[in-house]
Parts: sequence; structure tokens; C-alpha cells
Amino acid sequence: MKILSQTKFALGSPTQRSGVGLKIAFIGDVMLGRLVNTVLKLDNYSYVWGSTLDVLKRADLRFANLECVISDKGMPWSPEQKIFHFRAHPSAIKVLRKAKIDYVSLANNHTLDYNTDAMLDMTKRLRDADIAFSGVGRNLSEASAPAIVKKNDTTIMKPAISSFSKSSATFKIAIISLTDNEPEWEAEGKLLRNDVSSVTMHMEDAPWEKILPIRKTKAQKMPKQSRDHGVPAAENGRPGVFYVPLRLTKRYEAILRKSIQNAKKNSDIVIVAAHVGPHFRTKPSKFYVNFAHKIIDLGADIYWGHSNHVPQGIEVYGNKLIMYDAGDFIDDYATDRYTYFSNDQSFIFIVTIDDKKIKRVELFPVKISSFMLQTNRAEKEEAREMCDNMEKACYALDTITARRNNEIVIEIFEK
Ligand SMILES: [Zn+2]
Repeated sequence: MKILSQTKFALGSPTQRSGVGLKIAFIGDVMLGRLVNTVLKLDNYSYVWGSTLDVLKRADLRFANLECVISDKGMPWSPEQKIFHFRAHPSAIKVLRKAKIDYVSLANNHTLDYNTDAMLDMTKRLRDADIAFSGVGRNLSEASAPAIVKKNDTTIMKPAISSFSKSSATFKIAIISLTDNEPEWEAEGKLLRNDVSSVTMHMEDAPWEKILPIRKTKAQKMPKQSRDHGVPAAENGRPGVFYVPLRLTKRYEAILRKSIQNAKKNSDIVIVAAHVGPHFRTKPSKFYVNFAHKIIDLGADIYWGHSNHVPQGIEVYGNKLIMYDAGDFIDDYATDRYTYFSNDQSFIFIVTIDDKKIKRVELFPVKISSFMLQTNRAEKEEAREMCDNMEKACYALDTITARRNNEIVIEIFEK
């Protein structure tokens, strides 16, 4: 049952890096392959971020969903089965570093586009660059394990005001990454496959052709290849993603519970990055809502959704936060308009956490500039309209919002 915790409302102060509490910036899909990859040849690794860097740097930490593989290895996975394969040149790591991205979620429908070799090569490159990740691994145990991001408390709060004591050394954030896409990429899949009650429900009705064709050129025709995606039949498991179906069976619920509880033991805040659900929907379906509620009920503090390609509303569930979908942040996809948003419109979601509690989320509208391969802050009339539409989406989820110019502020109060 939903509990509305927003019993009162007050505008937050403008977002500033030095404010009280830890500020985490969440963004949606970052796809650095295809045409975006060509920008890398210009050796201008900050270009794609445009004017959004100014907002991103106001946060203490920055989290993104990486919707491609970064590697120079591998062959396209099963071209007969999958049309779109996204791979960025290894220098794309510098793009992430330019924006000071601290964490990327990798459980999604593109992380194994160039098979296991490329995926494992990417994880090594991310480790070397000190960028945390989760959602993939050499087996289920690794894929379902959280990334732990630590932040020294002295950089994130004013001790005189905060209830944190100076002696609390670090603030630990656990991030689990899961997806209901590409069941064949499931880590250690054989063990669990028998328990899947149905194929993921959104796969049939996803109008991929509407969005994924490249803006300027036709998608490249891939050579024929066997469906074997290079995964070794290892005795100790199989590399892949943390696959979790939206319709949870008892076994998957047990795996998810264990993953969240393990994360909880080792952290102050648990975030679940979920690349799940149908695409291009104005609002989350009841299955999607139930899934997000279940994840919070199992112990997560923040649900961070992506995969819809279009932003959806925010729900305050108890004192916890559900961002149903963050939309697309960087890509070269063809653009189409849906009820509230087009798929080149999204937000930077900056969440403030203080004393281990979620205090506030601030939304900054952004827009992918067509033909420029660059994301910038949305301006004037467009920003106003995006905020209007996001407020409508939030109201539909009983969430109280307020406006600060062309930005949205949602305060979360304790019951
Ligand atoms: Zn995706």
C-alpha cells in the first residue's frame, strides 16, 4: 500500500556543491557508439556533454546508465537476432572522465553487444579509470553484487549543521544494477532459466524501429554469425548480466532479496538501477509500479529506472524515492514525440541525502541537440513545457512538486 509522506512542502535552496548533504546526480542512457563515436575522433572528450557539465559538477557524485560497450574487441552478438550493436572506442572512457562520472550501470540490452570479450575488456578499462560499475560479471555472484561508492564525509557536509559526526569516516553508497532485457545474457543462466514463468513482457511490443535507427544514415548490415556469443560453458557459472524478470518468481525474488540485503549490510544507502519495463510509455504500467515497490519493500532506498527512452514521473513511496525512468541522455537516435516528451528530452536528477535519509530531488531539463550529437540544458519555452509535463507525470503518482524557475524541486519529509 502506498504511503504518502509529503505532509508539508517548502522550496529547497538552490543546488550548490557546498550545501548540506551528499548530492548525487542521476542521468539516463549514455550511448557513445555509432555517430557519437565519431565525435571522439575530434579529441574533444567533453563536447557531447555540452552545457550539462555545469549542472553535473554541482553534485558530489554522478551516476549514468552506459548504453553501449566501450572496447576495441569482439564481434557483434547474434546479428540475426539483434539488429543494433553499440560499441564505442576505448577513448570513450575519457568522455566519462570529463564529466567525472563515478558509476555506470551495465545491466542493460547493449553491454554484451560485442560478446563477453568486449564486455570484460570494458570492465577492466572502467576499473583502471576508477569508474565504479555493477550489473555484469563472470558469474551471477559477481553480476548481482553491488558497486560500493565511498565519499568522505568532510567533502559533503557542514559538520556544525549536519547530524553526522566528524568521526563518521565515509558515507557508503551501494548500487545494484539489473535488467529484464536480453534473458539470453543472464549470468549463470542455466541455473535459473527453468524458473522463468514467461518471456519478458515488453519485448514483443517495443517499437524499436521508431527510435533506434540512426538519424542520418542507415543502420549497418551486420555479417552473418552463429548465435554463440562467445560465452564459455564454465563449471563455475557463465559471464553475463544480472537478469531479473518483471514478474518475479519466488526464486528471482530470493536472489533479489539476497542482493539487496547484502548491499544494505555494507552501505548507508542502497540504490537499484533498473533497466526494465516497456518502452516509450507516458507512465509506468501497474506491473512496473509493483516491481519498483517490491524493490523498495525489499530494502532499497532509491529506485533509478531507465530503458523507456522517455522520462517518467517520480513517486515518493514511504520515505523512499522512485524515479521511474530517467530517459535518454546522450545518443544519435531518430527522434519521435510521445505524449509528454520526445526521446531527446530528459532531466538531470540531483538527489540530496543527509543523515542517511533522502531529503530532496531536483530536476534540470536537458535536450539532445539533433545533428550536433551534444546534450545541453533545455531553455526557455521548451524547458518550461518539459517541467510542466514532468509535474503532471509526478502529480499522477501523488507526488507534490514545486518550481524554481525552469527546474523542479521535490522535498521529502519524514512522517
Ligand atoms: Zn536499453
